[in-house]
Amino acid sequence: SGARVRRAQNKRLPQYLERGVDVKFSDVAGLGKIRLELEEIVKFFTHGEMYRRRGVRIPGGILLCGPPGVGKTLLAKAVAGEAGVNFFSISASQFVEIYVGVGASRVRALYQEAKENAPSVVFIDELDAVGRERGLIKGSGGQERDATLNQLLVCLDGFEGRGNVITIASTNRPDILDPALVRPGRFDRKIFIPKPGLIGRMEILQVHARKKPMAEDVDYMAVASMTDGMVGAELANIVEVAAINMIRDGRTEITTDDLLQAAQIEERGMLDRKERSPETWKQVAINEAAMAVVAVNFPDLRNIEFVTIAPRAGRELGYVRMKMDHIKFTEGMLSRQSLLDHITVQLAPRAADELWFGEGQLSTIWSETADNARSAARMFVLGGLSEKHHGLSNFWVADRINEIDLEALQIVNICYERAKEILQQNRKLMDAVVDELVEKKSLTKQEFFGLVELHGSLQPMPPNI
Ligand code: ADP
Repeated sequence: SGARVRRAQNKRLPQYLERGVDVKFSDVAGLGKIRLELEEIVKFFTHGEMYRRRGVRIPGGILLCGPPGVGKTLLAKAVAGEAGVNFFSISASQFVEIYVGVGASRVRALYQEAKENAPSVVFIDELDAVGRERGLIKGSGGQERDATLNQLLVCLDGFEGRGNVITIASTNRPDILDPALVRPGRFDRKIFIPKPGLIGRMEILQVHARKKPMAEDVDYMAVASMTDGMVGAELANIVEVAAINMIRDGRTEITTDDLLQAAQIEERGMLDRKERSPETWKQVAINEAAMAVVAVNFPDLRNIEFVTIAPRAGRELGYVRMKMDHIKFTEGMLSRQSLLDHITVQLAPRAADELWFGEGQLSTIWSETADNARSAARMFVLGGLSEKHHGLSNFWVADRINEIDLEALQIVNICYERAKEILQQNRKLMDAVVDELVEKKSLTKQEFFGLVELHGSLQPMPPNI
């Protein structure tokens, strides 16, 4: 296997050829059905004659769409690797040059090389850098870019139907591409690669663990469920950092704990071993405990993975990790109730401060979460989720604060009282969580829910908004 390099003796060295690309589909995990679509592209190379005989038009270009780090580049390489063809790559930002004509001549050179060394895959990263709809960019840079784009269109058309050079491009913005690029015969096939789900993340971790000395009982699912929202590039990094952790500790196997710690580092930065006064530890513990204790009362927010007050470089004081996979934050489908619960959780640190230290001693530890609550409440009002304006009778207040803020403030107040109520009902649980946090600095899911079992009094209250 491996890329076949067919190069005549006297030709200059190809500039855009990537040597030693030996990626296979088995190196790309969490793809589900997308893999079938890509296998078909491999067949255009391996069974090209069959397609042509049957009059099937082989696509000139395939567009891989998705956020950074989901494996678009890796997939393009895997297509070349599986088909056993050469892989040429360039980032479209390299096309965009200040000097007129440079970009276009690079495109020509790229395709010239790909053709001379066919069969080959041409991979264009960040196609939107050059493929943005013409006329959207003003000035001389736009003119140069147009020339480059035109050249690309010419090259794409030159290969239509031949099937021995296939272009794969990646973009996170298929919506802004020039319509000419996505016309039939050009990038006429789009494949969307979303962020991996729970199972996808587990599979990606496992793929990267293949080459590492993993302990036998590693719980990949536990790591996957702590990393929602992360993409393949981040998950690959977690495995690398876990390996470094193992070596630093002089061990020979990577454990679940190494991976979990690495996941925290990936998400929140390195542990910062700074000292704190006992009062500060306690204050931070109350802050985080309050969020966890209130959150556990709400069905959408009770999936707490861990609670920690271990300081991290340049980050917040403590952290409550909630699993959000089941909430459709990303699809913008947060329900009215979830949003109110979220606001209540964000206000918990402020409420706890009042309850534990009294009004006269408010600290600023909670300012960030209070800010979150405020913007979420504004979102609630702006989104038309509140039923009616509250108490506008106080006209001179309404005069100074606009109606939206006023209403958001009222929602914040109601949620604040709710947070206080829950905390008061759970004083015992709060004390237990705070004590444990001060002592251990972090509580696992099991430890936290153990305390909830023992001391919690869960009574979700209906909102009255
Ligand atoms: P993109 O091109 O979408 O920005 P890359 O292909 O450059 O992402 O991904 C960077 C690295 O992350 C890959 O080289 C690989 O190590 C890892 N990676 C990303 N997605 C996956 C995946 N689905 N399976 C396995 N590894 C992945």
